[in-house]
Amino acid sequence: MARTPIIAGNWKMNNTIAQGVELVKALAPLVKDATVDVVVCPTATALSSVAAAVKGTNIHVGAQNVHWEANGAFTGEISTGMLNEIGVDYVVLGHSERRDYFGETDEGVNKRARAAFAAGITPIICCGESLEIREAGTYIDHVVAQINAALEGFEAAEVAKLVIAYEPIWAIGTGKTATFEQAEEVCKAIREAVAKKFGQEAADAIRIQYGGSVKPATIKDLMQQPNVDGALVGGASLKAQDFSQIVNY
Ligand code: PEP
Repeated sequence: MARTPIIAGNWKMNNTIAQGVELVKALAPLVKDATVDVVVCPTATALSSVAAAVKGTNIHVGAQNVHWEANGAFTGEISTGMLNEIGVDYVVLGHSERRDYFGETDEGVNKRARAAFAAGITPIICCGESLEIREAGTYIDHVVAQINAALEGFEAAEVAKLVIAYEPIWAIGTGKTATFEQAEEVCKAIREAVAKKFGQEAADAIRIQYGGSVKPATIKDLMQQPNVDGALVGGASLKAQDFSQIVNY
């Protein structure tokens, strides 16, 4: 089945409103003919202005997190309704930085993903192993367990519309990209796990990105892997030129 690749830039805690708007204004003409879905994920403060700046372009906006409750006493959180109001199409969930620094759990990722999907926002669900787990050789079990937990309670037809980002923690921001074989091995295992739990149709449709030090020089070979449907890009998404080269691989 033909899956439209998706390339998303995770800006993390970078770019003020002015810098974010400037970045997407520079990016828009460079990616206007892209054959992939293009997404930028600014910080919460810049979401609204960036969404306004990309109106009429092929750039989609994603948030970096969302809470599962509609409103209430959840200091520091943002609801799906608030993202809907801005016109956000995607949300990054369960990034390793959220899991490692802010105590996010598989259960929380699942609740956030279900709330986002129900609100019409496509979750980009992150998974990935530490260097320790990689070296112990249990990385596939670890990643599959993260994904099975994140997808708990979803219907097969819904799973088909989700995005998963496989991001080995040892490759994030380190300049150490996983080899194409390493990326493909885990993305394939994720697709097989989805097939086992939700059936082949959902597995054939779900999009699986690789993330971890993706650069203009590495994207082409990565995208030739049969189970890699795009990339989640951190550092290289902060420069319009670099990110556009990745998008236009
Ligand atoms: C990320 O954190 O999602 C990421 C992939 O970062 P980088 O590209 O900088 O490794």
